[in-house]
Amino acid sequence: MTHILNADLHCHSVVSDGTLTPEELAPRAKANGVALWSLTDHDEIGGQERAIAAARQAGLPYLTGVEVSVTFVNATVHIIGLGFDHTDPALVEGLRQTRGGREQRARAMSDDLARVGIPGVYEGALKYVGNPELISRSHFARYLVEIGVCKETNEVFRKYITEGKPGFVAHRWATLRNAVRWITGAGGLAVIAHPGRYNLTANEEYALFTEFKAHGGQGVEVVTGAHGQADYVKYAGFCSEFDLLASRGSDFHSPTESHTDLGKLPNLPGSVTPVWEPLAARFH
Ligand code: AMP
Ligand code: MN
Ligand code: MN
Ligand code: MN
Repeated sequence: MTHILNADLHCHSVVSDGTLTPEELAPRAKANGVALWSLTDHDEIGGQERAIAAARQAGLPYLTGVEVSVTFVNATVHIIGLGFDHTDPALVEGLRQTRGGREQRARAMSDDLARVGIPGVYEGALKYVGNPELISRSHFARYLVEIGVCKETNEVFRKYITEGKPGFVAHRWATLRNAVRWITGAGGLAVIAHPGRYNLTANEEYALFTEFKAHGGQGVEVVTGAHGQADYVKYAGFCSEFDLLASRGSDFHSPTESHTDLGKLPNLPGSVTPVWEPLAARFH
C-alpha cells in the first residue's frame, strides 16, 4: 500500500443525490485513473452491492462507503463510513431511521417555496429523485434550475435553500455518537467529511473533533473537492493534533454540476497516514 495512491473515497450516485448510476461511476473512475474507489451515498447503502459488482467489472479495488447526515450543535455535519459490512443490521436500521423525515421536510420546503411564489416544487423535484427514500435539496436545486428560477444549482442553494433562506427547513439528523457507532460497529472506519465546509467557530470545531474521537472516530477528509490548499494544510495539522488518519475524495455528484471529477485531486500531504492503510484487508 503506497502513500501516494489515486484513492477516491467520496462520491454519489442516483441512489442518493448524484446523477450517475453505480454502473456509470465505476468505469468513469477507472478511466480517470482511480486506483481505489468508494461510493458514499447520503444515509443509504442500497447501492453498495451494485458498486461492488461494477467495481469488480471495471477491475477497480473497492471499499464500501456511506455519508451519514449528523446534527451537531445545531449544524449539519457529514460523517463518512468506509470498509464496513454493508449487511450489518444496526447500520442498516440506523440509516433507515436517518432517511426518515426527508419526505416530510421536502413537502415543508415546497410549501415554503410556494409562499414566495414558486409552486409545485415537490412534484418537480421528484422527477430527479432516483430513490424514493432519499429526496434531497439537490433534487430541488435541479428542478429550480430547470424552470429557470436560477442559472445553476449553487445559486439555488445560496438564494433559496440554505439556512435563513425562504425554502430552508431545519432538520434533525443522526447524532454524532450514533453515526460513528453504526459505522465502527459494522467493522468500518469513521471519517469527518469536508470539515472546511461547516463554518463552525474554532471552539465548535474543537468540540466536533474531540467528541468524534471519543466515540471512536478515526479519520478526517483532508483532500476533497470543497477544500483548498489552506484546508489541506490545516486538516493535515489536525491529523497529528488529534491522531487521525487522512482521507481523500472528490465528492463527485454529476458531470455537469461538480467541479471536481472522480480521481482529479491532489495527493495527500506527506505528513499524514492515509485511511486506506489499515483498511487493506477490507478491499473488494
Ligand atoms: P440534503 O442532505 O438534502 O440537505 O442535501 C445536501 C446536499 O446538497 C449536499 O450533499 C450537496 O450535495 C448539496 N449542496 C449543499 N450545499 C450546496 C451548494 N452550495 N451548492 C450545490 N450543492 C450543495
Ligand atoms: Mn450531496
Ligand atoms: Mn457532504
Ligand atoms: Mn458527499
